[in-house]
Amino acid sequence: MPEETFFRKIINKEIPSDMLYQDDFVTAFRDIAPQAPTHILIIPNKLIPTANDIDIEDEELIGKLYSVAKKLAKQEGIADSGYRLIMNCNKDGGQEVYHIHLHLLGGKPLGKLISAG
Ligand code: 5GP
Repeated sequence: MPEETFFRKIINKEIPSDMLYQDDFVTAFRDIAPQAPTHILIIPNKLIPTANDIDIEDEELIGKLYSVAKKLAKQEGIADSGYRLIMNCNKDGGQEVYHIHLHLLGGKPLGKLISAG
């Protein structure tokens, strides 16, 4: 069994977060260390540790992450100006929390790519 992260506690509201959306499948909350004026994390309620662990049966769930991202981008007023959706995978991808999450970033010009840092 993959190991749960503190995102489970955010989903369960056992630790506080600036939560913007939750349904039976998906939770979205503001990143604690925003890299842009809008920086929201959109996560499945089900634990999937990395993009490598996404199974065929998760396809609909992954689609839901994008649907929620689209709604939140509109809600944040950045749908027309534009935004970036990123999912980091493993060490070289810069993944720190092993419960997949879509970063929704926007509210300023982001350039062509995020720097390697
Ligand atoms: P990753 O590097 O895994 O793609 O992204 C993990 C994200 O989780 C980072 O952007 C980081 O700022 C965010 N994060 C880490 N700890 C917390 C926390 O306690 N609350 C919230 N809301 N975000 C967190």
